[in-house]
Amino acid sequence: MPPDPRPVRGACLCGAVAFEVTPPTTFCGHCHCSMCRRAHGAGYVTWFGASREGFRILAGEDALVRYRSSEHGVRSFCGRCGSSLFCELESHPGVVDVVLANMQGSIDRRPELHVFFSDKADWVQADDGLPRLGGASGLEPLE
Ligand SMILES: [Zn+2]
Ligand SMILES: [Zn+2]
Repeated sequence: MPPDPRPVRGACLCGAVAFEVTPPTTFCGHCHCSMCRRAHGAGYVTWFGASREGFRILAGEDALVRYRSSEHGVRSFCGRCGSSLFCELESHPGVVDVVLANMQGSIDRRPELHVFFSDKADWVQADDGLPRLGGASGLEPLE
């Protein structure tokens, strides 16, 4: 895909929170950690990284609820409809993790790996051939 610098918009389910991301993004991957599973009510969550400079809230800043889910990071969701939206981690302060499913258009990359694969729910099937990272950090290569 040729680089497309046009911003891509995203929003929560009710539309109160709207935002945009300007490529290039920094990664895109499926996270199988138990916190993502619970926070989203899903088997796993597909995240991508937006640089701080390329990330902008367009509407609904006041509807955004921030929840410190661990000492390493803060998750945010829409206080009106409950859509899980963003995760900010101390491990990469220049990047906002954004839920791919909330985007209203295509970003500049496809999911490229699995992280926290050791914590995967046993009812989730993942045979897509993408690299699997896991272990204690969630980011170690697995065999
Ligand atoms: Zn909402
Ligand atoms: Zn996770």
